[in-house]
Amino acid sequence: MTRSIALLGSTGSIGHQTIEVARELGLSVAALTANSSVDLIESQAREFSPRLAVLYDEAAARELRARLADTEIEVMSGMEGLLAAATLPEADTVVTAVVGMIGLRPTLAAIEQKKRIALANKETLVCAGELVMDAVDRYGAELVPVDSEHSAIFQCLQGCRDRGEIRRLLLTCSGGPFYGLTHDELENKTRADALKHPNWSMGAKITVDSATLMNKGLEIIEAMRLYRLPLAQVDAVIHRQSIVHSLVEFRDGALLAQLGTPDMKLPIRYAMTYPYRAESGAEPLDLLSCPPLAFARPDEEAFRCLHLAKRCAEKGGAACAVLNGANEEAVGAFLAEKIGFNDIAALVETALSEVDVVSNPALPDILEADRLARESVRAHIGA
Ligand code: NAD
Ligand code: MG
Repeated sequence: MTRSIALLGSTGSIGHQTIEVARELGLSVAALTANSSVDLIESQAREFSPRLAVLYDEAAARELRARLADTEIEVMSGMEGLLAAATLPEADTVVTAVVGMIGLRPTLAAIEQKKRIALANKETLVCAGELVMDAVDRYGAELVPVDSEHSAIFQCLQGCRDRGEIRRLLLTCSGGPFYGLTHDELENKTRADALKHPNWSMGAKITVDSATLMNKGLEIIEAMRLYRLPLAQVDAVIHRQSIVHSLVEFRDGALLAQLGTPDMKLPIRYAMTYPYRAESGAEPLDLLSCPPLAFARPDEEAFRCLHLAKRCAEKGGAACAVLNGANEEAVGAFLAEKIGFNDIAALVETALSEVDVVSNPALPDILEADRLARESVRAHIGA
C-alpha cells in the first residue's frame, strides 16, 4: 500500500485525478512536479506541503520559489529537479504522469531506489521498455500500470501463477473521434476535431494519439514490454463503448476482462492500494442500462499509425524510440497547426525510413534514436 507519493506531472489530466485520489485515500505528497504551470502547482503545494516542488522550466521555477518563500518547501527546476523528486526518500510510490519520453530518466532513477512505480507515462515503456523492465527485475522495484487497458490486464492477471498460461492479451480501443472514416476523409481533420474524444477527457497529446490510433499502437508495445510477450500475443480490438477495459485469453480458452464506466481514478486508485482495493464513492457500471457490448477490427489502412507501431513492435531495438520521438514531434506540430492530420503518420513513416536503428540499444542509443527522429520530423516541416 502507498502512503506517500512523488507525483511527476501533477498539473495534467492524470496529475489532477491523482490529487483527487490522494485526498480520498489520505495519502501524503512528498513531491510535486510540472512543466511550467506556476499558479496550479503553487495551490497544490499549499494544500499538500510537499518537501519538494519542481517546475521543469527554470524561469517558472524562479517565480514559484519567490511565491513559496513563506513555506519550508524546496523548489527545483530541470531534469535535476525531476530526478530529485523521483528519488526522494520520503515517497514510497512515484506516480509517473508526465507526458512524453522526458519521463524516462526519472522512472529509471525511481526504480533504482526500489520505489513502487505507478506508471501512466507510456512513452517511457515504448522507448525503453526492455531497459525499464530489466531494471525493475534487477532492483526488485514494483511497477503497477495506470493506463486503463494495462491496469485491466494487471487486474485480470492477479492469481495467475504461470505467465506461460497467457495465450494473448486483447487491448480494447474506443476508435477515437474519427472511427469509420477512410484515409481520404481524415485528410482535412483539424486540431479542434481531433481534440473531441468521445469517452475520455485527457491531455492534448494523448487525445491526438487516440484520434490517429497511435495511442493503441503505443499501448500494444507497452503491453509487450510489461508482460514480455511477442506481438503475436498482443492485439487490439475496437470497442466503442469503453466498458470492457481489456482482456486476457488463457491457454484453456478462458477470457478474463475488467469492466467499468470509463474513469481513470479506478486504475490510479488501484495502483496506490494494490494488492488491496479501497472503498470508493464512484458510480459502478449498471449492467441493466449499459449498451450491448460490440467489438470490431481496427482499420490499419486508414489509421496508418497503428500499422507503423506494430511494425516497430516487431522490429524491436531502437525502432520504437524512433516511432515515439517522431510521433511526439509530429503531434506537437499538428497541435501548433503547422501540419495536417494525415501528415502525422507520413512524417513518422519518413523518420522510420531515415533513422538507422541499433538492436539491443543501451540508454544512449535510445536517446540518440529519439533525437534523430525528432530532427527528421523538424527538417521535413521546415521547423
Ligand atoms: P497532460 O498533458 O494533461 O499532463 C502532462 C503533465 O506533464 C503536466 O503536469 C505537465 O506540466 C507535465 N510535463 C509536460 N512536459 C514536461 C516536462 N518537459 N517536464 C516536466 N513535466 C512536464 O497529460 P496526461 O493526459 O495527464 O497524460 C500523462 C501521461 O499519462 C501520458 O504519458 C499519457 O499517455 C498517459 N495516460 C494518460 C491518460 C489520461 O486519461 N489522461 C490515460 C492513460 C495514460
Ligand atoms: Mg489507455
